[in-house]
Amino acid sequence: MTQSLRVLIIDDNKSDRALIIRELRREFKQLQVKEIIDAQEFAQAIINDAFDAVVTDYQLGWSNGLEMLRTVKTHYPLCPVIMFTNTGTEEIAVEALQSGLDDYVLKEPNHYIRVPAAIRIALERIETQRQAALLEIRLRGLLNQVKVGIFRSKPDGTIVESNRAFLELLGVESLDRANEMNLLDTRECFVRLANLPPPQQQEQELQLQRSSGTQLWVLLTITLNTVEGVPVVDGLLEDITERKQAEAELQQLNATLEARVRERTAQLEAAKQDLEEFAYSISHDLRAPLRAIQGYAQSLLEDVGESLDANHLTFLQRIAANSQQLDTLITDLLTYSRLRQTEINLQPVNLSRAITDVLTQLEPEIQRRQARVQIAEPLPIVQANRMILIQVLTNLLFNAIKFVDPNVQPQVRVWVQQREQQTRLWIEDNGIGIALDKQQQIFRPFARLHGEEEYPGTGIGLAIARKGIERMGGQIGVESQPGRGSRFWLELPSATE
Ligand code: ADP
Repeated sequence: MTQSLRVLIIDDNKSDRALIIRELRREFKQLQVKEIIDAQEFAQAIINDAFDAVVTDYQLGWSNGLEMLRTVKTHYPLCPVIMFTNTGTEEIAVEALQSGLDDYVLKEPNHYIRVPAAIRIALERIETQRQAALLEIRLRGLLNQVKVGIFRSKPDGTIVESNRAFLELLGVESLDRANEMNLLDTRECFVRLANLPPPQQQEQELQLQRSSGTQLWVLLTITLNTVEGVPVVDGLLEDITERKQAEAELQQLNATLEARVRERTAQLEAAKQDLEEFAYSISHDLRAPLRAIQGYAQSLLEDVGESLDANHLTFLQRIAANSQQLDTLITDLLTYSRLRQTEINLQPVNLSRAITDVLTQLEPEIQRRQARVQIAEPLPIVQANRMILIQVLTNLLFNAIKFVDPNVQPQVRVWVQQREQQTRLWIEDNGIGIALDKQQQIFRPFARLHGEEEYPGTGIGLAIARKGIERMGGQIGVESQPGRGSRFWLELPSATE
């Protein structure tokens, strides 16, 4: 202690005072002592307030130690008072301690040394208490500043402590009012926490009503604690009204956005539908005049073909071939656009039987090209639409025979691979192959990699295949290298008959 310590020594015995002072000087380098030997001096000292600690005897000619103690503590509750006496009884000691005495030292020859120690301990304890009190004040200040409501409640639901934010959140001026209005059901908190395993804690978003009747959203965090053997609920209350409002607005926005997207999609679908219907009717209407051209060309060929010169005959044959080609194109387009429009029924389809039907259809082409088609029987059942599947398989198998160098005998292999709930069917040929960068585009309508003379076709076959497979909930693809054949695959859900 660098500051000087000022001590009142209240003792009628001069030599006792001298001995105490001697011991105090040893312990406290800077010491100011005021010796008190009568009531008047004591009263003056109390008024002057010029001491930091008091040492008093019990037995005084003009008063007693208890009186001294009470007077000092009344005026200066934090000033340590040590009783140094040989006349007091145990009862007096107890009474004195109850009245706030800091220490009691028996006046015996070798006990003088204990007086400064008692003062030091008392001063330190009082300092600690003072610090604790300051800390408490700061803590309370902080708790009152935070925007989070803090409370503690008893098992009967009474809230016994809270900070200012708690009261402000609920819109009440006092804790009593909050309890009276039962704005927060803390008894229910106890019940909920009691049923939880440790740590008995819970977080919950809920809506509360302020005393004014307005609503607020809060995040309530509650914990079951035990304070001095009694269970309490400690809780935090956070205002999340703004967040909740923002969430609600976002949800609202999402909902309208979804509705708008749905509306736009419906409009687009309708427009697409119109376009498809238009294309369908155009294709349909084109067929009648086309059939007439085909018919007349055919009649001319039959009736006057022999009398025509070579040039005119070729013209006529070209007219017939071109109109035939146009007819195939229109048929393909009609198939493609019908695929997009019609409702599709799916049912178990036996792949073996479907392939057999396709091969029967393709028999003339197989014969013409002397193709070898190898099927890895038995093939399983898939979930599909029989008509569409046959159309798709026809297109793929026809291509597998068609896109083969004219000097090579077409060899086609068909097999399946089971993957989980899917069946993958492979169609492999020994044809001309397809460059990697073209493998995606060939599935689009009109995409052709060759001239009409080299390999005739309309460029719609694979587009029909892809659309058909997709409409049946499957997938289609190809693996190929130019000059090394192609492997087309399609995948459909497996089924049982
Ligand atoms: P098309 O056969 O009428 O030309 P597709 O839609 O069936 O029309 O095929 C599109 C293009 O994809 C073909 O023109 C061809 O270039 C290529 N192609 C299709 N199948 C094969 C195959 N098995 N091998 C090589 N190329 C193929």
